[in-house]
Amino acid sequence: STPGGSRARKEKILVTVRLRPLSKKEQSLKDQVAWECIDDNTIVLKPLSHDRSSSSVQYTFDKIFGPTCPSEVVYEEGAKEVSMSALRGINATIFAYGQTSSGKTYTMRTITESAVNDIYKHIENNSDREFIIKISALEIYNEVVRDLLKPDSGPLRLLDDPEKGTIVEKLEEETARNIEHLRQLIGICEAQRQVGETSLNDASSRSHQIIRLVISMLCDVLLGDICQLLVRWLLQTIESSLRENSSCVKSYVANLNFVDLAGSERASQTNAEGTRLKEGCHINLSLLTLTTVIRKLSDGKKSGHVPYRQSKLTRILQLSLGGNARTAIICTMSPALSHVEQSRITLSFASCAK
Ligand code: ADP
Ligand code: MG
Repeated sequence: STPGGSRARKEKILVTVRLRPLSKKEQSLKDQVAWECIDDNTIVLKPLSHDRSSSSVQYTFDKIFGPTCPSEVVYEEGAKEVSMSALRGINATIFAYGQTSSGKTYTMRTITESAVNDIYKHIENNSDREFIIKISALEIYNEVVRDLLKPDSGPLRLLDDPEKGTIVEKLEEETARNIEHLRQLIGICEAQRQVGETSLNDASSRSHQIIRLVISMLCDVLLGDICQLLVRWLLQTIESSLRENSSCVKSYVANLNFVDLAGSERASQTNAEGTRLKEGCHINLSLLTLTTVIRKLSDGKKSGHVPYRQSKLTRILQLSLGGNARTAIICTMSPALSHVEQSRITLSFASCAK
């Protein structure tokens, strides 16, 4: 069956906001902090920053992480629960959304590392079960999909599979032997992405990166491989007297996606649904479609058709978004006065998503 597909449950999207500190550059340019977190849930624009505007200057979310908040806390409160649902067979996606240089990559790095640690803790604590962790990674740049695990691979095509939904043809998928191996594979993806950044000007602000973990928990009959069956049979023969319950309950497969999005300034030229798409390459089709999809999903059923198929990003993530899946979005923003316009766009997206 479809990964995670059998465990439908409608959940709302967890939306949090992370404010980074002023950068050295912003400080040296005497930029000012325009925002104030008045409590864990509320962020306001300071009076100095909005004399030109009369609209709302206060925003409320599930959680706001201030400039001194460590990434580990952002993970614990903004991503952990959603990530760990993949261990129960529920597809999950964690997004970092925000303007270029607002802290998306910085935030996603720790979130991915922390989730990997927690997954392996869980595996250790459930040693009577069999887990298999696979990883794949890709980048979408100008609607072209590239493999981040396989250097020098060309553009990849998307195919529709009646069972698995949209799949990326020939995408490398590696099975992690252990946590060190998984960390090493994630390192390869990050290095690959940096190669892309130096050869294509501005690439990181225009591209989306997805690291996908496929987590399987197997029951005995699904082990398949004869060798594994033999080994397990031997182990069980030895151990069965020690175990209360040696038969495994159920098998699950779920995807856990970590998505570092293109800079949100790439979707901000229009709010309407695709009306200005053809007017130039600055607008990022995948990002714009994603924001429409997220808005529709958080709107609930009443808005009808969800346009997953309009972009590569939303096709690839379709089964990990919406009804059968859990989603967390961490919106990152600069505190600087010079970035107030973009930050307000980020916050209004965040408001629509919650
Ligand atoms: P983005 O991926 O959104 O373009 P980055 O994650 O690359 O932005 O962050 C831009 C810069 O700001 C980097 O040098 C990063 O180390 C720094 N940075 C981002 N968020 C924080 C934070 N919360 N605390 C300290 N430094 C941060
Ligand atoms: Mg980045």
